[in-house]
Amino acid sequence: MKKLFAVLMMMACVSFMFAQEPIVGKYKKALVIGAHPDDPESMCAGTMLLLKEQGCEVVCVYFTRGEGGIEGKSAEETAAIRTKEALKSCEVMGIRPVFMTQVDGKSEINKARYDEMRELIAREKPDVVFTHWPIDAHRDHRNCSILVYDAWRLLGHCFDLYYGEVMTGMQTQMFTPTIYVNIDSTVEKKREAYKCHVSQGTAANVDKWHQVIDVLRGREFQCHHAEAFIKQRWNSSEILDR
Ligand SMILES: [Zn+2]
Repeated sequence: MKKLFAVLMMMACVSFMFAQEPIVGKYKKALVIGAHPDDPESMCAGTMLLLKEQGCEVVCVYFTRGEGGIEGKSAEETAAIRTKEALKSCEVMGIRPVFMTQVDGKSEINKARYDEMRELIAREKPDVVFTHWPIDAHRDHRNCSILVYDAWRLLGHCFDLYYGEVMTGMQTQMFTPTIYVNIDSTVEKKREAYKCHVSQGTAANVDKWHQVIDVLRGREFQCHHAEAFIKQRWNSSEILDR
């Protein structure tokens, strides 16, 4: 009986691993849109690097410059420091950065901001976009996600949209992923990239916040490190209400 159970469990794991839709190798151009410098990296730098290795153009979009992220410094000083860190991180990954004009802690959702996000995505023409899962303790993460989702609808679902996680439990909430990417081959470069954000804590702290998620998802996906996502579904008969 035990043996039968073990075989059934193994079959369930194998069918789960092969049933999921592959991300790597499928796309030509990816945008990763994170609310603050270090969000794109912690959410999916491993996947970004794998996509890039497969010939996909990857662009790292920072929604804000992290203006509120260093205690005791002005917004301008912090933005300058965190922009520099983001540039360094993108240099490590070999990925082009783009900075949007929202402000950390003060991000907005209004007509101009809907237009800004939609126009950026229309200009870049990705066939896949990754952004925050919308249920999140941080308002900037929620706002970023909602603006991307709106652009996806108004651009006629012309790109695949995936939601990822950051600091799950503290920030991302109620996230039950369905798609996994094994990042064992890129996890070291990922750590190198997010550790460029030195203003956000010591290397050990950053590992404690971010690597723990990669390890958890790795256990779920039968490897050492993984990143996990939920793909936005759409129904072709839905009514496009604005
Ligand atoms: Zn953030």
